[in-house]
Amino acid sequence: MLEDVCVGCKVCTIACPFGTVNYVADTGKVQKCDLCGGEPACAEACPTGAITYIDASWTGLSRMQQWADKLGNQNAAA
Ligand code: SF4
Ligand code: SF4
Repeated sequence: MLEDVCVGCKVCTIACPFGTVNYVADTGKVQKCDLCGGEPACAEACPTGAITYIDASWTGLSRMQQWADKLGNQNAAA
């Protein structure tokens, strides 16, 4: 979610079938979850492109977690 691109229109709060997008009055932006895979309704509805779906495996998240575990173990052993 790109906070700079969000204009606070709240369209995504209506589109989400689970009601998990919350408007934050202090920032004038929304906070949302990452529950849906594929094509989340919030991302489809957003007129500014502030919400985009990225597959966690595509980002290499699992490999980063493996490295973090490895480094954590090394530090613990030191
Ligand atoms: S990812 Fe799914 S559940 Fe989460 S805010 Fe978007 S539409 Fe709602
Ligand atoms: S639909 Fe997009 S621009 Fe509108 S509040 Fe949601 S994230 Fe922000």
